[in-house]
Amino acid sequence: MPCGWRRRASLGHAAVTGSFNHLRACPHDGLRRFSVTPVTHWVLMPPRHSSPEALLETLSANRGRSDRLTHTEHLPARSARHASWPEAIRPEIRQAARELGVREPWAHQAEAMELAMAGRTTVIATGTASGKSLGYLAPVLSTLLDGSEARNGRGATALYLAPTKALAADQRRRAAALVPPRVRVALYDGDTPPEEREWVRQYASYVLTNPDMLHRGILPSHPRWSSFLKALRYVVIDECHSYRGVFGSHVAQVLRRLRRLCARYGASPTFLLASATTAEPAVTAERLTGLPATAVTEDSSPRGPMVFALWEPPLTEHVGEQGAPVRRTATAEAGYLLTDLVESGTRTVAFVRSRRAAELVALQAQDLLGTPLSGRVAAYRGGYLAEERRALEGALQSGRLLGLASTSALELGVDVSGLDAVLMAGYPGTRASLWQQAGRAGREAQGALAVLIARDDPLDTYLVHHPEALFATPVEATVLDPDNPHVLAPHLCAAAAELPIVDADIELFGPSTGRLLPALERRGLLRRRADGAWYWTRRERAADRVDLRGSGGSPVQIVEVATGRLLGTVDAAAAHTTVHAGAVHIHQGRSYLVRDLDLESSVALVEAADPPYTTSARDITSISILGTDTTEEWGEARLSFGAVEVVNQVVGFLRKRISTGEILGESKLDLPPRTLRTRAVWWSVTEDQLFDAEIPLDQLPGAAHAAEHASIGLLPLFATCDRWDIGGVSVPLHPDTGLPTVFVYDGHPGGAGFAERGFRRAVQWLTATRDAIAACECERGCPSCVQSPKCGNGNDPLDKAAAVRLLDVLLSGAPADKGESGVRSGGDGGGDGRSGGTDGDGGASGTA
Ligand SMILES: [Zn+2]
Ligand SMILES: [Zn+2]
Repeated sequence: MPCGWRRRASLGHAAVTGSFNHLRACPHDGLRRFSVTPVTHWVLMPPRHSSPEALLETLSANRGRSDRLTHTEHLPARSARHASWPEAIRPEIRQAARELGVREPWAHQAEAMELAMAGRTTVIATGTASGKSLGYLAPVLSTLLDGSEARNGRGATALYLAPTKALAADQRRRAAALVPPRVRVALYDGDTPPEEREWVRQYASYVLTNPDMLHRGILPSHPRWSSFLKALRYVVIDECHSYRGVFGSHVAQVLRRLRRLCARYGASPTFLLASATTAEPAVTAERLTGLPATAVTEDSSPRGPMVFALWEPPLTEHVGEQGAPVRRTATAEAGYLLTDLVESGTRTVAFVRSRRAAELVALQAQDLLGTPLSGRVAAYRGGYLAEERRALEGALQSGRLLGLASTSALELGVDVSGLDAVLMAGYPGTRASLWQQAGRAGREAQGALAVLIARDDPLDTYLVHHPEALFATPVEATVLDPDNPHVLAPHLCAAAAELPIVDADIELFGPSTGRLLPALERRGLLRRRADGAWYWTRRERAADRVDLRGSGGSPVQIVEVATGRLLGTVDAAAAHTTVHAGAVHIHQGRSYLVRDLDLESSVALVEAADPPYTTSARDITSISILGTDTTEEWGEARLSFGAVEVVNQVVGFLRKRISTGEILGESKLDLPPRTLRTRAVWWSVTEDQLFDAEIPLDQLPGAAHAAEHASIGLLPLFATCDRWDIGGVSVPLHPDTGLPTVFVYDGHPGGAGFAERGFRRAVQWLTATRDAIAACECERGCPSCVQSPKCGNGNDPLDKAAAVRLLDVLLSGAPADKGESGVRSGGDGGGDGRSGGTDGDGGASGTA
């Protein structure tokens, strides 16, 4: 434990009044230092305003840490570029904006306004704090104001969709200052009282809601919304990068249902989307809305200078699975860096993944700092009362609090910005979240410091060694697959219940529609009448058959034994791996131990517990190819995309110590196998290629397995998913290909677009995979490169060096720039259900 005393001499930002004891021997290490007893008053002085370069220098100079800094990016300041207001924006709106300090819009805002007023589907994909809201609000409010002059006061309406209820409420607060008095704004969500709902339907012209409410509440009762829908001019889809994977695919179908009903009432609204910066925002917007879209991507908002550091914690003495070296956790490293920053008077937030981690980091820093500085560090997490949150945010803003360890940036109040430094313990999953967190730091003149601390996983390893992946053009796209039959089928039922489906609708819902309608009739859900249209035949509400946020199967309920309280649910597909008996289950940052998983009644009984370990399931997976959509020859090797069947059985679990990753023990489980039909990307090499790569047969399983693990870890760089959304299987000799084959599949029935994106970006993806493995300094493989936290096989066998040679030989035949190729052809394929290999890494984990 470092001595708390020596800290006191270094408090540049604070002055001490009170009595000094002169040089005294410190009881910890016997050295003589100044100490202060008693400390009576601390008077706040202005912060020291070290430059970010100097701050970084301090961090890396301390305790021989210079080798942990893998890259420093200097992001220069950018000055604002303005444009004049588009003609069509009403003077009232300009005036309101002026009162908020906006004399003229930034160029990208003006561009978005022009496109919106011209009725073009537009996606604004610029950085955080680049005023995307004004870009869509100005044209929307202007149009609503025009509409307010109609005889019924509602000649134009607009619908705003946020991914969550809370964000819609937040948007309403933020938009309030811009909204002219004649425009009636209303929230419409699960909390809206019944008496207010009728008013909203009849009178509101700007309705803020979420996709779930649109799906369950608005569309099924469209006749009551007819006057609103008839006048609908704009649909705003905020934070549209949230609509990814299966959830995104569901929302895409909800939007098609909305478009169909609008058309019925004679309206054809313009869709305006706001996205974080991603690759191909227009493509994503098109998939989401089904309409051709124009992207506005050039950010003309001003930005202060920033120093962005990439940081890799050191390997420790501890030993993990298969004797692999264990890196110091990003959380522990964040604790040390936070300590140093607070000590130098730097207002810092450390973003971490869980409540527990937030508390650990704060405790660690408090401990290292000792009194009185320890009182200026706190933990911040979701679940606090509003007053507690405001108090903490206020303390941070005023400088009374210097260091905060916090869960995600979204939970931290909107007012917290202008910090001196931001630490991020682990890549937060997407570039959007990364910049959102980094964006909390920003001092106009001096510039701010952001530090990304790598976790021990291949994606983080890759990123801290390949800064271009973070600072150059984004490669990460938001992907979704609205044509997934598992997603589409229930929406066809919901649509038919809203309004019978006619032939002219088939194109709108996508290529699988024509095949699915008769299938739904065979299942007794739809009936085709003599008029040729498809009708919903059941008494129950069709919309209730689909949960936009679920991924098929009835979810497993998590119930607390002691209280009988329902804590939440997990997807059926994820239940075996996440809530088996003995699992440690984290729910909203609290940890629980699972007592029993009852599959028949879909209930997991849990009790609050705080064991010093996490659990990870062991499973056996086999895979068979049902149908191949596309194949590419890469020299002798082959890359394919198509439909597969994955059979997965969870057979046991491991317990790992939280602080060190050390293995504490293994237990067996008796759970039935599960079958998943989904889509996969796979690649095979020939025996000759193995010979060229000097991979003897006994090294092959380890090479393929290691390549598979790392490729699963790297796919989230290209498609916004996390490694739990996808799974993989590697087989030394696969019966369907007759060759050594590595599969990566979507962990959701019918696919979610991730494997497809992997296929389309295969050259870059597998090159990054190869580089991530090669970049890790460990000798024989570790969690930073080829070990996977969810390996069904205890990370055995893995051969790091042979994996690099295997990927090299695979990539040697790859086209220089494969470019994009469309792949979807629809269909589930046939297949004989043969089983493949024996090793796998099950996907299909969701979150509760
Ligand atoms: Zn490694
Ligand atoms: Zn594995």
